[in-house]
Amino acid sequence: MEYKAWFQCINNCDEKYELNEIVYRCRKCDNLLEVRHDIDKLKTSSPDEWKKRFEDRYRKSEWPYGSGVWGKKEIVCPNIDNKNIVSLYEGGTNLFWAERYGNEIGLEDLWIKQCGDSHSGSFKDLGMTVLVSMVKQMISEGKQIPAVACASTGDTSAALSAYCAAAGIPAIVFLPKDKVSNAQLIQPISNGALTLSIDTDFDGCMEIVRDICKNDNIYLANSMNSLRIEGQKTLGVEIVQQCDWEVPDVIVIPGGNLGNVSALGNGFIMMKELGIIDKFPKIVCAQSANANPLYRSYLSGFKEREPIQAKKTIASAIQIGNPVSINKAIKVLELFDGIVEQATEDEIANASAKADNTGLFCCPHTGVAMVALSKLVDKKIIKSSDKVVVISTAHGLKFSDFKIRYHEDKIEGVTPKYRNLPVELEPKYESVKSAIFQRLDKL
Ligand SMILES: *Cc1c(COP(=O)(O)O)cnc(C)c1O
Ligand SMILES: [Zn+2]
Repeated sequence: MEYKAWFQCINNCDEKYELNEIVYRCRKCDNLLEVRHDIDKLKTSSPDEWKKRFEDRYRKSEWPYGSGVWGKKEIVCPNIDNKNIVSLYEGGTNLFWAERYGNEIGLEDLWIKQCGDSHSGSFKDLGMTVLVSMVKQMISEGKQIPAVACASTGDTSAALSAYCAAAGIPAIVFLPKDKVSNAQLIQPISNGALTLSIDTDFDGCMEIVRDICKNDNIYLANSMNSLRIEGQKTLGVEIVQQCDWEVPDVIVIPGGNLGNVSALGNGFIMMKELGIIDKFPKIVCAQSANANPLYRSYLSGFKEREPIQAKKTIASAIQIGNPVSINKAIKVLELFDGIVEQATEDEIANASAKADNTGLFCCPHTGVAMVALSKLVDKKIIKSSDKVVVISTAHGLKFSDFKIRYHEDKIEGVTPKYRNLPVELEPKYESVKSAIFQRLDKL
């Protein structure tokens, strides 16, 4: 008996394809595809057997099962030969109790899931390991795939470049010119990817990469390719595992192209189908007010789903006006008592800095989630006793340019409330001493 998974049209029009077929949309109705699993086969193990299997493998060295993604291989992508797996030991990231920040905003039980503590510094590694492994498998089966390509706001390109470099597969990344951080730009360059800097925004890059992949036989690595969603799905499972199989009350996650919020929901749906959990958390999706198509749709009760022109935002990885996974995300939000909130530039920058002052080091997207969280606590939609998990999507070090500009008061539209600049001093005992006591007197 073998575990099985396949692509199926999200529109329920019965179109099915093998996972090793090069196809991203339904050939009948052009809708997105999702990966479906043989649930009856998965149910031949009991919930306790699944929990034990996942725990026995977690962060161990038996390759590839120590990876947070491949330790859950049966519910992610069972069709791949272990010899084709391209893993950088992704997942297994820190979930910690942010006691002090929680107290400051009125929460007793706030936890941060540090997805940025990962090989390329963001959660994008979770999905990319699955996609690049499938490419390696297809190449080993004789399929002609000269390269893998993606449009990116900076983190997808970093992950794709790293996994392709590890596998020896050529990567091409499409980046909007001057719209990604230096740390993000240097990642594909260092990993030897063909790095295209295009004078447009993410949505503009996406259009071109779609045409290139359609016409020129290059494999598309954007999250419209639902193999990535399967890897990202482990995020929800891992959180519940880290909470000793208890479901938190609320999960807050920043959203751009909206693949990750869909994946998070799918992980919970899978756990419920397997009997591992018996309820869902509330899911809050947080957007930048400058790139808020989902928030606008939410205000209309999800009746309207119009793309917008995204404006510049310090949360640059979610500067997306035409999110490819909006329908999948809305499906999840409707099932999870979902809420969408938004955050202005000033709110994002100050929430990030405030959280940093309690020992975090927030990327601006995590800052967007922090703002949404505070707003919902203030509105009493989130109760002070609720167990809340915030998904921190990237490592703050990828966005040090943003933090420097914040403390230098150089971000337009932001009034920094938590500035902290280096004190420049002569190398003299008296002046150093007086600088120290001036600061301590203020505490
Ligand atoms: C990609 C990304 C997001 C948004 O994820 P989507 O799946 O596009 O909604 C949020 N934060 C960071 C840091 C990202 O790289
Ligand atoms: Zn279809």
